[in-house]
Amino acid sequence: MAESLDTNLEAALELVARWINESQRMVVFTGAGVSTESGIPDFRSPGGVWSKYDPSEFTFDKFVSNPEVRKKRWRLFLEEEAMWTAARPNPAHLAVAELQRLGKLRAVITQNIDGLHQEAGLPDELVIELHGTNRFVACLSCSARWPSAEVRERLRRERIEDPPCPECGGIIKTATVSFGQQMPEKEVRESERLSREADLMLVMGSTLVVHPAAIMPMIAKEAGGRVVIINLSETAGDRYAEIVIRGKAGEVLPEVVKRFRKKFMT
Ligand code: NAD
Repeated sequence: MAESLDTNLEAALELVARWINESQRMVVFTGAGVSTESGIPDFRSPGGVWSKYDPSEFTFDKFVSNPEVRKKRWRLFLEEEAMWTAARPNPAHLAVAELQRLGKLRAVITQNIDGLHQEAGLPDELVIELHGTNRFVACLSCSARWPSAEVRERLRRERIEDPPCPECGGIIKTATVSFGQQMPEKEVRESERLSREADLMLVMGSTLVVHPAAIMPMIAKEAGGRVVIINLSETAGDRYAEIVIRGKAGEVLPEVVKRFRKKFMT
C-alpha cells in the first residue's frame, strides 16, 4: 500500500495517527467488514451472506416457533463450521490489539460474533459484543451454555436435527442476537456510555445501518468526540465523520498504527 499513497490519503493517515496520540478515551467500533480479510463474508457486500440467504427466514420468532427453521439453522451451523474455525485474526484485528498494548484503546464495541478481536490478543473485558457470539450456544430457558465445538460434536454424534437443552429440555441457540431478538441490555448501556465518553471513535467495516449498534458513532459525535471511518464502501455515518478513508481495514489501520508508533512512540 505504501507505494500507492496519494497525498490526501497520506495526510489523512498522519492526522488519524495524531488524533490517536491526543486521545485519552479512544473506542474502536467494528462490523463484519473487519473480518472479511479473515475469510468471513459480510452481510451486505456483493457475494455477502444476504446474497445467499434470505434474512427474513431466520428471525428470532421463527427460530423459536418453528422446528423446521431450527433444523435448517443447525444444518447451516454444521456446514459453516470450516469457515468459522479456519478464520484467524487479520492485520486489522492485530493493529487494534497493538493499539491496546500501546495504551491507546479504551474498548472495542463490535457487531461481530466471531471472537477474532479476542483471538488477536484483546482481553475479553475490553470487547463488547453487541450481537453476542457464535463461539457459544446457550439455552433460551435456563441459560446453560456450551462451546459451539461441543454442540457440533453432539449434533453429529447423536444425529439430532433439533437438539433440546440437555439440562432443562428448552430450546438452544447460538449465543448470537438474531433479527427480532432483544439486544443485551448491559452491553447496549455500556456501549452507549463508552461512546458518549469517547474523544475518538474509529469505525471500521460497518455500513452503520443495523440499529441500535449503528447509533454508537453518532452518540460519540454528538457528545463532542471525533469520528473516523475506515470502510470499503459508503456508510450511513460518512456525512458526520471528520475523516472517511475508503480502503481495506487490514491495510489502512496498520499504516495508521505504523505512523503513530514512528512519530509518537519513539
Ligand atoms: P455489513 O455487511 O452491513 O457491512 C460491512 C461493511 O464493511 C460494508 O460497508 C463493506 O463495504 C465493508 N467492508 C467489507 N470488507 C471490508 C474491508 N476489508 N475493510 C473495510 N471495509 C470493508 O456489516 P455490519 O454493518 O457489521 O452489519 C451486519 C451484521 O452482520 C452485524 O450485525 C454483525 O453482527 C453480523 N455479521 C457478523 C459477521 C462476523 O462476525 N464476522 C459476519 C457477517 C455478519
